[in-house]
Amino acid sequence: MKIKVNGCIGCGACTGVAPEVFEMDDNGLSTVKVEKLTPEQAEAVKDAIDVCPVGAITEEAE
Ligand code: SF4
Repeated sequence: MKIKVNGCIGCGACTGVAPEVFEMDDNGLSTVKVEKLTPEQAEAVKDAIDVCPVGAITEEAE
């Protein structure tokens, strides 16, 4: 699975629940910083998808 962020409003919630996967870029928007997720990171991404207030995080088949 590939994680994408599209439509981020910069709330920072995803970096709180999945700091190993997401980071805020210079524009204050979330970016994905890992290529391949560990099982633990994949679980954290599910939490991030749940907490994102605008549904900006999606998982896509590669
Ligand atoms: S939780 Fe959603 S809106 Fe908030 S920083 Fe992450 S991607 Fe952006």
